Amino acid sequence: MHIVVLAGGVGGARFLRGVISAAPDAEITAVVNTGDDVTMHGLRICPDLDTVMYTLGNGIDDERGWGRRGETWTVKEELAAYGAEPTWFGLGDRDLATHLVRTRMLDAGYPLSEVTAALAERWRPGVRLLPMSDQRVETHVVVADPDTGRQRAIHFQEWWVRHRAALDARAFVQVGVDDARPAPGVVEAIGTADAVLFAPSNPVVSIGTVLGVPGVRDALRGAAGRVVGISPIVGGDVVRGMADRCLPVVGVEVSAEGVGRHYGGRREGGLLDAWLVHTGDAATVPGADVHTVPLLMSSPAATRAMARAALDAAGA
Ligand code: GDP
Ligand code: CA
Repeated sequence: MHIVVLAGGVGGARFLRGVISAAPDAEITAVVNTGDDVTMHGLRICPDLDTVMYTLGNGIDDERGWGRRGETWTVKEELAAYGAEPTWFGLGDRDLATHLVRTRMLDAGYPLSEVTAALAERWRPGVRLLPMSDQRVETHVVVADPDTGRQRAIHFQEWWVRHRAALDARAFVQVGVDDARPAPGVVEAIGTADAVLFAPSNPVVSIGTVLGVPGVRDALRGAAGRVVGISPIVGGDVVRGMADRCLPVVGVEVSAEGVGRHYGGRREGGLLDAWLVHTGDAATVPGADVHTVPLLMSSPAATRAMARAALDAAGA
């Protein structure tokens, strides 16, 4: 069995753990958002790819949900002592080694997909880890100056990490997306998989960014297997994180139904064959079946059961 999972960072990584546990013999391909990627201090950083790689490779700091376990922050402190901006982004010493290797390989001309495969040789995540694209696509956020009303665009990381998504966003822009193509293997994997799952990742700046790469939506519409989405909204709220700050910007209600309709049912020209919502939530998504199952990743067993439900809904 071959399973494809579209994923962002923390929510995607935790869900992937459940998929591996629910289908230990399956071949699993993770197609990961790279819209969060950013260059800082001359280093190329891929937050979502790293979160998935560290989580599945058993190197993640489980409490924080991102970065390395047993991390130290000497370089960050030294950079701050120089006043070297940006100082608001958490770059740990262990994590920095990943960015050094990645940047060196990219500078040598390797595409991100090959760099990712090389890094994964150390971490052995148990899935095939693919960036959504080898081309650089960065999410920028259009914000308005509260005093002058003048609009400017800042990198997603600056909006998310520095401002904690507190600045009013007018729009998200995928810089570079017009020239982007799905990374090698992405379209083939989606087209031929027995099941394609949307992790309960941020529908706008994680899954939405993957869907924005030209060719991905068409691949999903033509997928041979069933496409199943898992709601990241439970009881009308995000379980963790700030996705509730993103959905209204693209005109989507913060509810399981709102997100399901945003993806749309495949029988009605959308993407989903089935949409999973949490026990107690209700949703109607024209063109897709809706299943109600527990969707809280509160323990490894609960996460495995959730992944199992998604595979059942896919008939896999
Ligand atoms: P990020 O890239 O680190 O922001 O992570 P993702 O985009 O992969 O996932 C963030 C999303 O995961 C948030 O929007 C949450 O609503 C969702 N999420 C986190 N934990 C859970 C959970 O236990 N259950 C469900 N259904 N969604 C969750
Ligand atoms: Ca992310």
